[in-house]
Amino acid sequence: MDFSLSEHHLELQKWAHEFAEREIRPVAMEYDETEEFPWPVVRKAAESGLYSLDLFLQHQHDETGLTLPVIMEEIFWGCAGIGLAIFGTGLSLAALAGAGTQDQLFEWAPKMFGTPEEPAVGAYAVTEPQAGSDVRSLRTRAVRDGDHWVLNGTKVFITNGGVASVCLVVATVDPQLGHRGQATFIVDRTDPGFRPGKKEKKLGIRASDTSEVVLDDCRIPIGRILGGMDRFEAKLATARSGGSTGRTSGALATFERTRPFVAVQAIGLARAALEFATDYAREREAFGKPIGQHQSIENMLAD
Ligand SMILES: Cc1cc2nc3c(=O)[nH]c(=O)nc-3n(C[C@H](O)[C@H](O)[C@H](O)COP(=O)(O)OP(=O)(O)OC[C@H]3O[C@@H](n4cnc5c(N)ncnc54)[C@H](O)[C@@H]3O)c2cc1C
Repeated sequence: MDFSLSEHHLELQKWAHEFAEREIRPVAMEYDETEEFPWPVVRKAAESGLYSLDLFLQHQHDETGLTLPVIMEEIFWGCAGIGLAIFGTGLSLAALAGAGTQDQLFEWAPKMFGTPEEPAVGAYAVTEPQAGSDVRSLRTRAVRDGDHWVLNGTKVFITNGGVASVCLVVATVDPQLGHRGQATFIVDRTDPGFRPGKKEKKLGIRASDTSEVVLDDCRIPIGRILGGMDRFEAKLATARSGGSTGRTSGALATFERTRPFVAVQAIGLARAALEFATDYAREREAFGKPIGQHQSIENMLAD
């Protein structure tokens, strides 16, 4: 089997690598220190087409599935924090595309990306203080009130939580049904009762915003439930009658769809780490020679 990249993928790889070298590496240290969200870099990525809904759509039509991984590896080689600032929206887009109606996709996906002149980002809020891997234990509640949903709860560790224009929030409608009683809601940053909470200080990927999201009697129109009311009511009826509503929760399905991207992001980061370590091993001398010529260092770099 031939694993070499096509001409097209090699071009994408070169495009992304040049962007990372030119626009990301020179400012990576600064954003790592200040922990500010790198809007100017996101804007340049949007202007060049690297951060765009179009690119995600191109990926969707690439049957090899390599369009985004090839690009992400190079961008994360540049800086993982800035890389996540540029591509973090992919998680909320995956949730929207995976379970939203066509109308919801056409209305909300462009709002997640904004325009090249004024880019925006999206967030996907599942995790809570007492519910990480265990998504069945979510306490954020969604209660129907006439033509609205009222959301209450606090989400933690949300990528883009402090800066997103659109936040997809997973909440429990019927706590008796575990994950089958949960739904995802589309929340606009300007909706009453929505606000970003504490921003986390992190050891790594510091240019990426990781924040709490607070929902305090947050009122949204009834149609903002992902997939629409009819589908959700049918799902609830099936669950209440003891029928199967699918193998896994919607939240876990979204995380699963985006895990290959996380893997390729780690490869880009690891490549950069190996290059920095190799350069240092060549330059730093101890006991009369570069440390890279001592066997234990050679072994680590070879591994
Ligand atoms: C930088 C960053 C960005 C994030 N962005 C988002 C985001 O955008 N949206 C969002 O919703 N969340 C986000 N998260 C949260 C992330 O999804 C959670 O951290 C993750 O789900 C794990 O939850 P937890 O941290 O509570 O760990 P826990 O669930 O408490 O797990 C602790 C440890 O126990 C292990 N463990 C748990 N259950 C089992 C089991 N059954 N068997 C064996 N081992 C087990 C885990 O593997 C882990 O090692 C982010 C987190 C970070 C650090």
